[in-house]
Amino acid sequence: MPFMVPQIVLDDWYCVETSNGTEVVPLDVCLDAENATDLRDYLEGEVDENSEMEMTRKYGARLSAPGYLDCTDWSLCDSEDEARRYLEEVYEVCSYCGVPIPICDDGYEPKRCECGKKYLT
Ligand SMILES: [Zn+2]
Repeated sequence: MPFMVPQIVLDDWYCVETSNGTEVVPLDVCLDAENATDLRDYLEGEVDENSEMEMTRKYGARLSAPGYLDCTDWSLCDSEDEARRYLEEVYEVCSYCGVPIPICDDGYEPKRCECGKKYLT
């Protein structure tokens, strides 16, 4: 099993404008945030009371290491397919099992992962 495995979840999120750009926080870490400062513990960038914050329901995609705190930032997508494509394109791994997509010099690209799932990209 690969160290980092894909996670795709349909969930509610806060999108917050911070000094680092838009950051995404799962709603369930803080159900009653009234403004961006309530989410400070979960943000990397700086915010204040006037920072823009909105709630949205979307698919979140990331890679995480089970049993460890290691994970990539969540990225939000409109559909599960889009989330899988995102993981394939950005991390070059199978969006189901996390095994790296093999890269072949001769231009041949495999259509399926060793876990049996078809690649979308
Ligand atoms: Zn796979």
